[in-house]
Amino acid sequence: MALRYIKKEGDPILTKKSRPIENFDAKLVQLIEDMAETMRDANGVGLAGPQVGILRQVAVVDTGDGLIELINPEIINQSGEQQEMEGCLSCPGVYGITVRPMAIEVKAKNRQGNEIILKAEGFKARAICHEIDHLTGILFRKRIIKMLN
Ligand code: ZN
Repeated sequence: MALRYIKKEGDPILTKKSRPIENFDAKLVQLIEDMAETMRDANGVGLAGPQVGILRQVAVVDTGDGLIELINPEIINQSGEQQEMEGCLSCPGVYGITVRPMAIEVKAKNRQGNEIILKAEGFKARAICHEIDHLTGILFRKRIIKMLN
């Protein structure tokens, strides 16, 4: 495993759309494990491919109860609304209130290439929405309705 460099706001890769993962191979497993290690080292709760220079639809999330691996994720259901504080490892020192769904249902693949459906709410839903935004080239700054610094 290895730590990867986290790209910062201003790097053009962060505003590009990621392509789907097609090969579920050892290279993907290595990437996911590096991303999880990099996220934890930076005390983050999520990290997406473009943030480590990989324009592919892969992200990791851990809000305290275990690692979630999201490959080619898609939000298939959402409900409610939450307005809470958010930050991003690519935007150090930037914090703001964003609007996100309170609950989501996500379809994705796991590292073996099998389809998974997962449900999340509250903080975890917010973190997953934030990472899926990264895969479409959207930084959370665009979602801020009130800056906190
Ligand atoms: Zn982020």
